Amino acid sequence: MKIRESARDTEIIHETDVLVVGSGPGGLAAALGAARAGVSVTLLERFGCFGGNITAVGVEGFAWYRHDETVDSEGVGIEFEERAKTMGAATPEPQSKSYALDGEAFKCVADALVVESGITPMLHRTFVSPVMDGELIRGVITESKAGREAILAKRVIDATGDADVAYRAGAATIKSPKEEMIGASVMFSMSGVDKKKFIDNVKADPQTYKDWAYGEWSVETSGKEDDMFSPFLRKPFEEARQSGLIPENLDTIAGTWGAIYDTGDLTYLNLVHLAGIDGTDPDDLTQGEIEGRKQAMLAVEALRKFNPGCENAKLRNFGMTLGIRDTRKIDAVYNMTSPDVREQGQFADSIGIFPEFIDGYGILILPTSGRYFQVPYRTLVPQGVENLLVAGRATGGDKVSHAATRNMMCCTVTGQGAGVAAAISIKSSSTFLEVDVPAVQKELRRQSVRIR
Ligand SMILES: Cc1cc2nc3c(=O)[nH]c(=O)nc-3n(C[C@H](O)[C@H](O)[C@H](O)COP(=O)(O)OP(=O)(O)OC[C@H]3O[C@@H](n4cnc5c(N)ncnc54)[C@H](O)[C@@H]3O)c2cc1C
Repeated sequence: MKIRESARDTEIIHETDVLVVGSGPGGLAAALGAARAGVSVTLLERFGCFGGNITAVGVEGFAWYRHDETVDSEGVGIEFEERAKTMGAATPEPQSKSYALDGEAFKCVADALVVESGITPMLHRTFVSPVMDGELIRGVITESKAGREAILAKRVIDATGDADVAYRAGAATIKSPKEEMIGASVMFSMSGVDKKKFIDNVKADPQTYKDWAYGEWSVETSGKEDDMFSPFLRKPFEEARQSGLIPENLDTIAGTWGAIYDTGDLTYLNLVHLAGIDGTDPDDLTQGEIEGRKQAMLAVEALRKFNPGCENAKLRNFGMTLGIRDTRKIDAVYNMTSPDVREQGQFADSIGIFPEFIDGYGILILPTSGRYFQVPYRTLVPQGVENLLVAGRATGGDKVSHAATRNMMCCTVTGQGAGVAAAISIKSSSTFLEVDVPAVQKELRRQSVRIR
């Protein structure tokens, strides 16, 4: 059964050169890249804060892959980390040469970056539909407390993570069957942890990346990762299962902790893994939120009983929303491949580099040498829709390439590249297929991005 909605006139409330939809690492970087290239930019976000998974989910491990020899991306992603440090929104990360972001305080970092760059901020508006003129996207329709509104733009960047704009505009997209998607997680943090006792216990029994393989889980490494320290927690949950606190069949509670503070906050607890959740299906999302919170509370109880230092601790907060890792990707003009990320791919249309860091689909490779790959511009360009680029975790590529490009620092690379390409295409009145790539690269270099 269906109902027919009536046609209506929708007010145009705003016009802009570049409209970025979604404000995670990809969208925030896109908005900054475009604004710094000299065009007017509007950043649209459905929630009440910018930052995407960093702030809405509490994903704080921004560069946990970084080691002494790592050749890292440069550009606005590094600025996120540095700015967070100066604004008191970052703390040393336990397994790497990096800083963990404070998911709460980063909201203010993102606000500052947006406001200082002259970007028009639009929170609390959800993209619901594209405004199309044939294959050309002219803007979007939003829904909010104010009802439906239209925003027009010369160029649109889809940074929703789920390729919402590209999909609804009719671009070709690809989605794995949900049984094959990377699991979803309810993220949470605790307070009241005895830091000294907790760390003494970590040191007494240091865990490694090899320990990630357990039960049905396997992890493919390059070998060099196996004996390296990982802030991994599994033993307390095994004990909890043996004692009957956690049901015997629930053997997927395990994972990493992100940061511990002198105040007793233990944050970015990535311990709940839910299979079979499609992040574009609201029924799956509903079920994932409820089941994930239930499992997180079991994890809290298990840590209180079986992990030294957590005896008097409690739940501090859940992420504002379920953490989704894997949904739609565009079928781009160029889809990246496993050899591109495993074998230092190089591209004439590179918009930036990312270290050889692969994390997902059962693979973990850390950039402990200087190996890195280049990210091609064409991976941002959808097929079938003009005036649209995609940044962040929905760019074109196969599973293994996504295990690299979905990482937040790489999302800033595709974001900044998309923002600059949008600005250059407006200034030169060219389409995204015709845009002068050397001019994009020149502007990216001016914005401190390493291209090769
Ligand atoms: C639990 C978990 C742990 C992870 N751990 C790590 C890690 O340690 N390190 C790492 O690098 N990566 C990690 N990742 C992956 C990483 O967080 C994501 O791949 C990355 O954040 C994707 O960035 P993005 O900008 O594409 O999308 P997102 O960060 O998802 O941001 C998308 C934004 O778009 C907004 N949006 C979506 N739809 C709409 C709409 N219709 N209208 C308006 N706004 C919309 C969302 O609210 C959100 O703010 C993890 C992911 C999860 C879920």
